[in-house]
Amino acid sequence: MKLTFLGTGTSSGVPTLACHCRVCTSPDPHDKRTRPSLLIRFNDHAIVVDTTPDFRTQGLREGLERLDAVLFTHSHADHILGLDDVRVFYFRQQKPIPIYADAQCMKDIQRTFKYIFDGDYPFGGVARLDPHLIDGPFKVEGLEVIPVPVMHGNQLILGFRINGVAYLTDVSEIPESSYALLQGLEVLILDALRPKPHPTHLTLEQALAVMERLKVPSGYFTHIAHDLGHEATNAQLPPHVRLAYDGLELEL
Ligand SMILES: [Zn+2]
Ligand SMILES: [Zn+2]
Ligand SMILES: [Zn+2]
Repeated sequence: MKLTFLGTGTSSGVPTLACHCRVCTSPDPHDKRTRPSLLIRFNDHAIVVDTTPDFRTQGLREGLERLDAVLFTHSHADHILGLDDVRVFYFRQQKPIPIYADAQCMKDIQRTFKYIFDGDYPFGGVARLDPHLIDGPFKVEGLEVIPVPVMHGNQLILGFRINGVAYLTDVSEIPESSYALLQGLEVLILDALRPKPHPTHLTLEQALAVMERLKVPSGYFTHIAHDLGHEATNAQLPPHVRLAYDGLELEL
C-alpha cells in the first residue's frame, strides 16, 4: 500500500490569500500546502480520502489516472468541493464512482451537488456516483476500512483506519471509544493546526499528546495552518513525528 499526501494545508490553504507572513512567503516548497486529502494506492487501485477544492491540481501533480472510490470525512468545503472533478474518472472507467460517507455528510453532499444526483438531468457531462452510507467497517476493493468517529468542534465526524494506518484530518477531540480503534498503529496521520487553541482543531501540543498516548512509532501532522513553518517546526518535534507535506509518500 502506498500513501500520498495530496494536500496538507488547513481550509484556507498555505499560502493564504493576501497574507504576507513568513510561512506564506517562504521559498521552501514544503510550505506550500493545498487542502487536506490522502491518496491510497494498492493493487492497481486508487482511493482518495476527501475531494478538496484542489483535487484537480493534486491529481495532475500526482499523475492520478484512475479512481476506485472516495471516502469522505465530513462535508466542510475544504473536504468536498472538488467532487465534481471525479467525473473524468467516471467517463474513463464507465462505471459510477463509489463514494462513502456517514448519513449527515452524504445528505450535505447530495444538497451541494444536487445536479449530480438529479436523475432527470438530461444534458450529460455529469459524474455518476454510487453512494454508500457508512455505519461501521466496510471494504473497498478488498481493503478493510474502519471508520473512527472523532469530534470536530461540536460535530461528530469520521477519520479512517486502514490496516496499521489511521488518518484523522479534522479533530478537536478523540472520544475514549475511538481510542480503542487506534491501538497498535504503525502510522498515525493527525490534525495539528497551529500552536494557538482552536475550537475545532487540535493544537500542535494537543496532537503531540495524542501521539504520546497511543505510543505510535511514526506520526505525521496535517491540516496545517500558516502559523507553522515546515523546517522550524520539524526541528522542534521528536524525530518520529513530522509535519507532512504535499507529495509526501509513505510505503507500507
Ligand atoms: Zn478541514
Ligand atoms: Zn500567512
Ligand atoms: Zn472541517
